[in-house]
This record gives sequence, structure tokens and C-alpha cells, in this order.
Amino acid sequence: MSELMKAIVVERLGPPDVMEIKDIPVPVAGEGEIRIEVEAVGINFADVLAVAGQYLTRTRVPYTPGMEFAGIVESLGEGVDNVKVGQRVACLGGSGSLAKYAVVKAGAVIPVPENFTGAQAAAFPVSYFTAYHGLKTLGRGQEGEWVLVQAAAGALGTASVQLAKALGMRVIAMASTEEKLQLARDLGADVTLLQDDPDRVQKVRDAAGGQGVPLILEVVGGKRFQESLDMAAGQGRIIVIGNASREDAKLRPVELMKRNLTVTGLWLTSLMSDRKATMAATQALTPLVASGKVTPQVGPTYALADSARAFQDILDRKTTGKVVIEPGR
Ligand code: NDP
Repeated sequence: MSELMKAIVVERLGPPDVMEIKDIPVPVAGEGEIRIEVEAVGINFADVLAVAGQYLTRTRVPYTPGMEFAGIVESLGEGVDNVKVGQRVACLGGSGSLAKYAVVKAGAVIPVPENFTGAQAAAFPVSYFTAYHGLKTLGRGQEGEWVLVQAAAGALGTASVQLAKALGMRVIAMASTEEKLQLARDLGADVTLLQDDPDRVQKVRDAAGGQGVPLILEVVGGKRFQESLDMAAGQGRIIVIGNASREDAKLRPVELMKRNLTVTGLWLTSLMSDRKATMAATQALTPLVASGKVTPQVGPTYALADSARAFQDILDRKTTGKVVIEPGR
């Protein structure tokens, strides 16, 4: 009989409480694979959407969520020579890490900076690579230029604020509460504004010198997307990264034409296969991490048995930084 481990299992799609903790077989590392003892799982909004069946790709059930995690290499399948047993690694993509062990392809692991804890390593890849691509690869942000960061106290938001400042940009941060705005200020945001401020469009335009903002990282969608168009400067770039409101937005192309605006979609999963872009992001991020100029903001941490609560807290906008679940706790 195979050995069993605790894992989160989703058998039908829906709100976070469809997630159940169960005993399932410990996975075995096959050829070219490694088994990792999971220390920390970084929970992204995408995980919440995937469990609800609302993500960009179809969620097949039954499954164990958890696309971003860090842990200690526990055993190696045949032919693996790029990692050692006992080494801390991070992984990105797929699913299955809300469990005591996860098996991944040896080529999928990301080395972890020595100064990172397991929780920091699990909080890093998705948010910081997405932030970099939004600000630089697709956003073409320049030193001294203004950028508007929405949901600025969240996982991607805190990464975007930190990274934009480290790259010499000026940041307008928006979030739903004063406490969240304080976190954005602590991370260096130059101007902060409540998401529901009745004069937010004019205030954002004024903050960026009256002309509007040249670069916007748009993660809320719905009616807020129209506002992003109104907040943008002529020739502004709006990078569509998320749709946390889960509402549809309307786009009249003629409106882009009138003010020479550019709207660009960003999905990290598809950008990861662009080796040149990934290499450039890695080269830019590595020294910033080593010097401590960017440090992953680990938010609340939860035990595996509390996974549903962690997901619900993200949906209820109660969290700041990256929510982390620790299966070994
Ligand atoms: P966060 O930790 O930022 O949590 C989501 C935040 O979205 C909340 O804290 C909340 O901040 C804000 N929000 C605004 N409207 C709503 C709403 N109606 N319901 C719930 N939350 C809302 O999550 P992530 O950092 O994981 O993701 C942030 C966004 O970026 C998401 O839209 C996500 O899908 C996207 N993303 C996309 C990636 C890509 O490759 N395209 C990669 C990574 C993230 P507040 O209360 O301040 O408004």
C-alpha cells in the first residue's frame, strides 16, 4: 500500500469552501522529476479563480491547488543532476503543492537566493516577474516616469510598488483602505489614493502633473478599466494584468485612437516561454534581490487545514502582501 499524506483536494469547482483536506498517496518522483517537501505555498488570485472555475485555463477536477511554492528537495528521480537532496528550491506553474510533498520536473525548479526564507521564496516568482514584465518588458517604464499601481497592498501590488521605486519610477498607489495605503507608502509610493475616492480620476491626473499617467498596471477590470482609460495620459500605456472585480469591461477602440492610448494584455504563464524576456527579467531582479532593494512581502500565513479560509480572505480583500500556506505547520 502506498504511503499517505495530507493534501487539499477540490472535487467540484466553487467558492473556497469546496476545498477539503484529505489523505492522498504521496507522489513518486519518476525519471527527470524531483520530490519536494513543501515548506510554503504562495497563494495567488489565480488560485482562487481556478478553484472557482473562472481562470483563463480550464480547471480539471479532482485536483490539488497550489501553483507557486518553495520547499526542500527530498528525493530525486532517475537522471536528475541539477539539484541536490536538502536544497531549497522554488517552483512555478502547474498545481498540486497544497500538500506535504509535491513532484515536479527537475527543469522547472528555480534557485532560491540564500537570504530568502521558504515563505519569501514562495512569495517571489509570480508577483515579481509579473511586476517586472508590467513595468518594463511590456510597460516600457522609464526612470522618473509616473506609474499607477492598483490594489497596491496586495501580492502583485506590493511587488510593483517596490520594483517601480527600485527602477527609479514615481508611483501612485491605489487600494481600498487607509491601512493598505500606509503599507504602499512604507514601500515607497509617492502618492496614495483610496480606490473609492469620489475625485480619484482627477486626483490621479493631477498627481501626475495634470496630464494623466503614462503607465497603468490595471488589475481590477470592470468599470475601473474605463477609469484607467480616463486616468491615462495621451500616448499612455495600460497593461491589463487582472480582473479582480470579475466584471466585464467595455472597450471602444475609437477612444484609444483619440488619445493614442495602448492597451496591452499580460499573462505571465505565456510570457514565461519567451526566453529572452525571462532572462532580462532575471538579470534585472537578481541584483535588486541580492542588495535587499526588493524583498517579498509575506502577508498572513496559514496552516494547510485553514486553506479555505486563506482563499476566502483574499476574496474578501482582507489580506496584504502574499498569502502563504505552510503545509508542515
Ligand atoms: P492580491 O494579493 O493583490 O489580492 C487581490 C486584490 O485585488 C485585493 O486585495 C483587492 O485589493 C483587489 N480587488 C479589487 N477589487 C476586488 C474585488 N472585487 N474582489 C476581490 N479583490 C479585489 O492578489 P494577486 O497579487 O494574486 O493578484 C492581483 C491581481 O493581479 C489579480 O487580478 C490577479 O489575477 C492579477 N495577476 C495576474 C497575473 C498575470 O500573469 N496576468 C499574475 C499575477 C497576478 P484592494 O482591497 O486594495 O482593492
